[in-house]
Amino acid sequence: LLAADGGLGVTIFEEMTTLAVRTGAINLGQGFPDEDGPVEIREAARAAIASGANQYAPGKGLPELREAVAAHQERFYGLAPDPATEVIITTGATEGIAAALLAFAGPGDEVLTFEPFYDSYGAVIGLSGATHTTVPLAAPDFMPDVAALEAAFSVRTKVVLLNNPHNPTGAVFPPAVLQRVVDLAGRHGSIIITDEVYEHLTFGVGHTPVATLPGAAGRTITISSAGKTFSLTGWKIGWLSGPEELVAAVRTVKQFLTYSSGTPFQAAIAKGLALPDDFYTGIASALEQKRDILSAGLRAAGFDVFTPQGTYFVNVGTAPLGITDALDLARRLPELVGVAAIPVPVFCHPEGAERTRSLLRFAFCKKTNVLEEAAARLATLR
Ligand code: PMP
Ligand code: GLN
Repeated sequence: LLAADGGLGVTIFEEMTTLAVRTGAINLGQGFPDEDGPVEIREAARAAIASGANQYAPGKGLPELREAVAAHQERFYGLAPDPATEVIITTGATEGIAAALLAFAGPGDEVLTFEPFYDSYGAVIGLSGATHTTVPLAAPDFMPDVAALEAAFSVRTKVVLLNNPHNPTGAVFPPAVLQRVVDLAGRHGSIIITDEVYEHLTFGVGHTPVATLPGAAGRTITISSAGKTFSLTGWKIGWLSGPEELVAAVRTVKQFLTYSSGTPFQAAIAKGLALPDDFYTGIASALEQKRDILSAGLRAAGFDVFTPQGTYFVNVGTAPLGITDALDLARRLPELVGVAAIPVPVFCHPEGAERTRSLLRFAFCKKTNVLEEAAARLATLR
């Protein structure tokens, strides 16, 4: 299990944030914005607390939030989950991922993910007792090889765990790639769990929920969260939707993980999900500018920059600087130049770690002047 999270006793996010705090470095490691989300949502939480929304919420979530999640799915994607039976609220996407994996996968099963994979996937697949199989995503575009994808499926592939837009690479998979996964899942009788927490953070491309593709709806659990869309990562309100019988199985597990999730935050996020379309387009265009500022700085500093189409992360190759070990560099970078980043090999099994050995991930969900200062510091590496 320890090997599944890169052999580290604490998560890489905690390790790098602790290092950034100790050294006073600019933290472009752990992904969290340095500006809080919309004031109306924060005020709504305050009002909910004042009006007494302070005891347990129903286990499956406040009705107004389940309804808001369903309305959001309908408004953006034309999906219409029944808020009574096909939506549940979770304690962040992290709990949704854990509850879904534990509901569907166990010893003797295989769970297939792309690699690099978000750190909690490896750890929870380990907890479930299932085997973790992977399909590599390689720079520069981080798209899966179709033959490798087909070869990775087996009769034991119980779950395909997708993440789109993809952390850490910033890739956004085109509908044809997603359809391929859906078709293979159909052929092998696999359940699809799709983590779409960055659904609104795409640049110049739209987001295609897996559940909208032919053949997907009946076998897909879709997971998202308020953290990224509303820049409220500390609230830990997430949700998932899918066919009633799959959602019921996940809910059974969720009951015994946390039972329910923060009541006043749920009430406030219900209001957030109803914000007008220009809020959603606004966050994407603001982030796209930040992406471009940091990418230009990283390029000027001598890195190979792999421009992301989504998320708030940009990956770079360190080889042009004569550095081949990103893990070692990430551990020294805060002292060296005063910037923290995340090494990509920690999101991989040993073979994948070798393949991604010189990749570093930087978060760009920070104020413009912070990104410019980070770029100036990184320029002194050469
Ligand atoms: N999935 C991915 C791909 C993420 O990047 C993150 C966190 N940044 C999560 C899940 C966890 O989301 P939450 O904070 O809502 O638990
Ligand atoms: N998802 C965030 C990232 O990828 C961090 C979340 C965490 O700290 N667990 O940076």
